[in-house]
Amino acid sequence: MKQNETRSNIMYLVVPCYNEEEVLPHTAQVMQDKLNRLIQEKKVSYKSKIMFVNDGSKDKTWSMIHSLCQQSSFFSGLSFSRNYGHQSAILAGMMAARAHADMVVTIDADLQQDIEALDKFIACYQNGCEIVYGVRNDRNTDGFFKKITAGIFYKFMHLLGCNVMSNHADYRLLSKRALDALAEYKEVNLFLRGLIPTMGFQSDVVYFDVKEREAGTSKYTLQKMMKLATDGITSMSTRPIQIITIMGFLVSLFSFCMIIYCIIDWFSGKNVPGYTTSLVVSLLMGGLTIFSLGIVGEYVGKIYLEAKARPRYIVESFIWKEGEEEEIDSDGNTCG
Ligand code: UDP
Ligand code: MG
Repeated sequence: MKQNETRSNIMYLVVPCYNEEEVLPHTAQVMQDKLNRLIQEKKVSYKSKIMFVNDGSKDKTWSMIHSLCQQSSFFSGLSFSRNYGHQSAILAGMMAARAHADMVVTIDADLQQDIEALDKFIACYQNGCEIVYGVRNDRNTDGFFKKITAGIFYKFMHLLGCNVMSNHADYRLLSKRALDALAEYKEVNLFLRGLIPTMGFQSDVVYFDVKEREAGTSKYTLQKMMKLATDGITSMSTRPIQIITIMGFLVSLFSFCMIIYCIIDWFSGKNVPGYTTSLVVSLLMGGLTIFSLGIVGEYVGKIYLEAKARPRYIVESFIWKEGEEEEIDSDGNTCG
């Protein structure tokens, strides 16, 4: 790109929503106001849109998105056939927006991520970045448990040699070029925070403040958080299996030394002491074996899922311009 030349700037905001009826009206208003301002300041094209992805909500989220789309062509919506999870919702939104947008920004529905940071994201894009990562300034709005577990998770990921950015959630800009590259990745075991940095491209970081949730409660249950963490580890690194191999080798070495020690003791006529020792050793070994099997099983399970290559999500409906519904395939491409 030549210096001072502005890049095409149709921006799509992709907003995953799971049971967000409490916060959605406010979010839609704030996002629409922001988009209007960006258009007036000529930072983004008037063709820009806000795309809500309904991740199988059980409340009124989808009917609200439906009426928003009818009120204004700023809004568009996509609805899953069931709850597939945050990562799939973001991916589906990005893949659907890819056909129309020059850049896509993914942002949560609860307005915790400072929407005013969008200007900085767009500036980085105009400076030639294909990917811009949003990184939170602090974790003050998180509870004690989330702070601790997130800290451990990122430390562990770095220990395993994974290239994940600490405190980067999924507030992120991807250019059309980066989206096209992302579309080539067909994996079912999805962890975008780890996957996207592996694509390379010129990138930058934008720091933003995290606020309290505007309304409603967190949709990330402990179970969903644990799934994200195991998906993250198993999709990015096979080092846990290497650790098991090393552990197995060390235990074997120790056992071999113990065998020699016992044989020498036996020949020198000593009684080999040991009810407690053998109980402790066999319990320890049993525990280690089952734990190791579990880790290997995680990977085998993931291979099983990848081998089946089922669709990562099923889009039930897709609303484009005012009230117009189109058929869409599982990769977010319109068929009609
Ligand atoms: N979300 C989703 N599917 C889910 C869980 C969450 O699309 O199964 C969305 C949710 O609506 C929100 C975003 O993911 O827009 C982040 O969720 P939340 O704010 O509840 O997570 P937290 O900020 O508490 O980590
Ligand atoms: Mg949140």
